[in-house]
Amino acid sequence: MSSTAPLSEHYRRRVVDVLRDLIRVDTTNPPGNETAAARYLADLLAPAGIETEILEAAPGRGNLVARLRGTGERKPLLLMGHLDVVAANPKEWRHPPFAAEVHDGWIWGRGATDMKNMVAASAVTMLALAEQGPRLKRDVLFLATADEEHGGRMGIGWLARERRDLLDVACALNEGGGDTVRVGDRVYYTCQTAEKGVCRTVWTAHGPGGHGARPRADIATQVLARALAGLGDGHVQGKITATMATALRRMAADVSPQAVEAVEGHLAAGRAEEALRAVGFDARAVERVRALFYDTVSVTGLRAGDPDSINVITATATAYADGRILPGQTDRDLLQALRARTNGNLEVEVYRQQYSPGLESPSDAPMVRLIAEVVAERCDGAGVVPWMCAGSTDAKHLVPIGVPVYGFVPTPALPEGLEGAGAHAVDERLRLESPPYTLEILHEVVRRFCTGEPSE
Ligand SMILES: [Zn+2]
Repeated sequence: MSSTAPLSEHYRRRVVDVLRDLIRVDTTNPPGNETAAARYLADLLAPAGIETEILEAAPGRGNLVARLRGTGERKPLLLMGHLDVVAANPKEWRHPPFAAEVHDGWIWGRGATDMKNMVAASAVTMLALAEQGPRLKRDVLFLATADEEHGGRMGIGWLARERRDLLDVACALNEGGGDTVRVGDRVYYTCQTAEKGVCRTVWTAHGPGGHGARPRADIATQVLARALAGLGDGHVQGKITATMATALRRMAADVSPQAVEAVEGHLAAGRAEEALRAVGFDARAVERVRALFYDTVSVTGLRAGDPDSINVITATATAYADGRILPGQTDRDLLQALRARTNGNLEVEVYRQQYSPGLESPSDAPMVRLIAEVVAERCDGAGVVPWMCAGSTDAKHLVPIGVPVYGFVPTPALPEGLEGAGAHAVDERLRLESPPYTLEILHEVVRRFCTGEPSE
């Protein structure tokens, strides 16, 4: 197994500059305006001999296609990243969100963590490979796309429809993983191989209207309230996916043979919380990851009556709930579970077709093994576990058409006592030492995967 020297200071500085330049291009979606960022990247990559093209799904909604040619012996590796960001209100921020200022060791700005950091690391990885010229057995394809924050239909979803030819790739590296999980004194980097699906629901209760002076138990608001109380803490039904079972087994193997045995027993019986405790998760850590083992429902909206008619019993009460389902579960499974918890006086339906199934890519795959190999060498003996993302990414456009997608933005743990602010948060910021670290690991993974160095 060979390991190259760290990338030179030139590239480590470059990746910080590229990230800061990208933050300064305001790609708030809507409207997006991603073409400006795509053009910046094309101008950066083209002089190094990388083929670039900008494809617009609509005016201003540009997608960069950049390709570094290999010999074609193997299928391309896809580096994917979205260029758009969510809105930021400058009045709420300590430093302006689109200026990429550096203060106290942080780079401040919208997109610093979601996900212009990964876009910058992918771009500089391409540059370093182009300039250093190792013999690549496959193309490195970089798609920096529009519209992820609004579902990706102008971005990777559009490319998957209009330019399916681009997506005949071995696998893709994406956002969604690469953070650290600390269990006792052990550190694991996550490699996202699965993500939860979305199934939003609307609950409607009907009951006789009437005068507020004559209460009854069957009025719409009460029927709805009783049904919602049945949700408890919102963890509706549990299942241990292949991804999380593999993660637990890997962690148990680092503890003891007894832990391995205990975890096997818990997995067979579907006892997720007990399995987590057996590998060393404490109560708070269990609480943080519990949602990865359940279909969940959070009631995020309620509507009934009118405060100006406080003496009138309304005939209809409605609740809106954000539901997240595990890979393998369907909208029908969730509706069935929810209806079973209500007493018939209530309709539970999918809200405005907001349903998309969860995703899972094979976790026993060459890319996952390679990531573990590079992390073991470069990250102080840290481990790698396949992991699930509770949110949703652009992977939903690729996994269903047969592209395995792995979320891996290797990000060092924050120094003790430091508080960050990540995706979509006010004061989103990234440690200054993070982009060079991400670049270093990502470049090594891409280089080995594309030169064919590891045994595949
Ligand atoms: Zn993102």
